[in-house]
Amino acid sequence: MPLVDSHCHIQDAKFDEDREEMIARSLEILDWMVVIGDDLPTSQQAVALTGDRIYASVGVHPYYADTLDAELLDALRFLAQSEHVVALGEMGLDYFKHCDIPKDIQENAFRAQLDLACEMNLPVVIHNRESTKDLCTIIDDYADNLCGGVLHCFAGSPEFVKHCLSWGFHVSFAGNVTFPKAEELRIAAREVPLDRLLVETDAPYLAPQAVRGKRCEPHHTKHTAEFLADMYGISYEELAQATADNAARLYRVNQD
Ligand SMILES: [Zn+2]
Repeated sequence: MPLVDSHCHIQDAKFDEDREEMIARSLEILDWMVVIGDDLPTSQQAVALTGDRIYASVGVHPYYADTLDAELLDALRFLAQSEHVVALGEMGLDYFKHCDIPKDIQENAFRAQLDLACEMNLPVVIHNRESTKDLCTIIDDYADNLCGGVLHCFAGSPEFVKHCLSWGFHVSFAGNVTFPKAEELRIAAREVPLDRLLVETDAPYLAPQAVRGKRCEPHHTKHTAEFLADMYGISYEELAQATADNAARLYRVNQD
């Protein structure tokens, strides 16, 4: 089945009790998945989980931006050379009230990782929460030198979608696009052309409406894909194939 979860966190402790069974369940439905790191330990865990049909992205989330020093950057550089690492991130900005990392520290950590992505010729996985203006200013500086990226768990306006497309980036939707109150997000989603669209779970978070309230698992990507296919007026198979092809192109994964 051509379906890819482009972004999940299955190294999370919420999966400690049944990780192997959960992965087996997920890979019955998915072609492959990308496990995303948030800091050094979760990036190392993501790489440790890679193997058959499991890839990793390594990076430092804005929540942990204050941990990024020269030594950690070297550790990321080293990790990123592992065979199954396909991207850097998640990285970005988070200005939501629960994030108490000062903006300048977030920006420094973000720019350091964008520099590393340019140096290593790896695509980037971008986190953005209530920080679109500053995020655009920063990525504008790098877009010409980056080999692609994705706005993960997209939240924003149709204008922001257009800005992401202008960088050559992909736009990825998680289960929250299926929530009844997410009409504004769906208006933005309609602006994403099928050849730039990705689907993800962000598991264990953001279970789609069909399984809302449950622990989210990578195979729940299917619910989001079915929902978006319906919204775009295309078949599930067409959407699953297109988003899998896009993920393969962005992350340079060849499953053949
Ligand atoms: Zn994430």
